[in-house]
Amino acid sequence: MSSIHLSDISKAYGTQVALSNISLEIRDGELMVLVGPSGCGKSTLLRSIAGLEDVTAGDILIDEQRVNDLAPHRRNVAMVFQSYALYPNLTVFENIAFPLRATRTPRHEVNQRVDEVAYSLGLTDYLKRRPRELSGGQRQRVAIARAIIRSPQAFLMDEPLSNLDAKLRVRMRAEIMRLQRTLQTTTVFVTHDQVEAMTMGDRITVLNGGQIQQVGTPYEIYHRPANTFVASFVGAPPMNLATCTLRYGSQFGRTHIEWHPGQLVVPRELGLELQDGLPDGRDLVVGIRPEDLRLCDESEAMIQGVVDLVEYLGSETLVTVLQGEQEWVVKLAGKQVIAVNQPIALTAAFENIYLFDAVSQQLAGTLAQFQRIPETVGGLK
Ligand code: ADP
Ligand code: MG
Repeated sequence: MSSIHLSDISKAYGTQVALSNISLEIRDGELMVLVGPSGCGKSTLLRSIAGLEDVTAGDILIDEQRVNDLAPHRRNVAMVFQSYALYPNLTVFENIAFPLRATRTPRHEVNQRVDEVAYSLGLTDYLKRRPRELSGGQRQRVAIARAIIRSPQAFLMDEPLSNLDAKLRVRMRAEIMRLQRTLQTTTVFVTHDQVEAMTMGDRITVLNGGQIQQVGTPYEIYHRPANTFVASFVGAPPMNLATCTLRYGSQFGRTHIEWHPGQLVVPRELGLELQDGLPDGRDLVVGIRPEDLRLCDESEAMIQGVVDLVEYLGSETLVTVLQGEQEWVVKLAGKQVIAVNQPIALTAAFENIYLFDAVSQQLAGTLAQFQRIPETVGGLK
């Protein structure tokens, strides 16, 4: 068993707070991705687990043992860096063997382990070369081989793919996932790339400003974003967010809502749970993902606007619609015949309309969740 348990971790550099009150359970064998924008504290958190930084407050437990006071080499975790950090004067063999040499492992065992690990990473033919004679991808493989050779309790990877070109990054991503699945070693993988986070993580921890925003599976992070930060950080293009005041109207009929810049008008007949915190006049941030908006007839439009931009990307077309000042990005399948400046009508299903509190920015729920009579959604789908 080697879970990692972080309990109320804080870290400050002088007056600069890098992490505040981080509590997180990383399960045995799990691939946990830490994702967030540059400067949000990802490396600091990873380095704290590794023992390369001392935390200001809180406990770090590896395998249920408190490790705050253990030196890095006694924590039995292996770190992989973006910069690879290989020894330039050593061969690939010697680089991979390095952690075993440091623990005075017998020579025949070193040879056997290096051969095994090199084979598993496709490095057998490169063992005599030096790092400068390798491609970026091969260097990263050597760094990974060096990390796994000691069979550590956990891998800590800090943006290990950021220096690779896009195509190689996708390949290495798959390789690391396969390797992790085979070895079943608890892994914390840091990235600023939300696509990498979504594709790789068993679970994802989203960080911003040194604080945890949300912990969840990729599905939960995508479909139940805890707040507007997570909603706009994950997904490309990001979720459309519109600040507006909720108004109840009665002239539209049961299944029709209208959107005006700054105002979301919902029919009283819809029966939203007023007592659940959606009173008339409440300020909300409403979010709809580009792929959840669809074209419709003017008569059933939630949003009416004018096409501002059409971007054809092959498998899909992105259409930017202007509704007054408010911009809505719509993702449509395939190639669409849509002209700039043409009027356009949009709608979305209630379960895909996210309501966030305008002050706390926390998710209140989807429009569907607030509906008292769910079967009336029919007309909008
Ligand atoms: P990330 O890896 O998410 O980009 P970091 O963990 O490197 O973020 O940094 C988090 C914050 O802590 C940043 O504001 C950064 O400037 C600050 N920081 C990191 N290391 C140091 C340091 N050694 N001294 C002072 N401030 C630091
Ligand atoms: Mg970093």
